[in-house]
Amino acid sequence: MMKSRIDTISERLVEHVARSAAGIRVSLEKISYIVGSKRAQRVYVLVENLGEKIALKHDNGVLYCGLCRKGPFTKRGLYLHLVRRHRYDIKQLIINEITQKRFDYNS
Ligand SMILES: [Zn+2]
Repeated sequence: MMKSRIDTISERLVEHVARSAAGIRVSLEKISYIVGSKRAQRVYVLVENLGEKIALKHDNGVLYCGLCRKGPFTKRGLYLHLVRRHRYDIKQLIINEITQKRFDYNS
């Protein structure tokens, strides 16, 4: 897979990872527009797993940022914090995951 393609896909997946982290529903259909229907399910799981890693959820439902520990946030607040402050960090995490899992984007 070409570097620029991974870059573009990762960039577009950032908001979906942020949604997942904040506990906002992630749309399989929208993921499918980005990566194609064949890979949508696998990428959906990747997005959900990453989202879980970058949010700290306390028992009382309060959310904190898993990347810088700021908070507490509402769902919407955490989503906005992640896309504004951690866009680049999240993009790099996605690139790492895609590269490690060897998704074949050329097929
Ligand atoms: Zn943060």
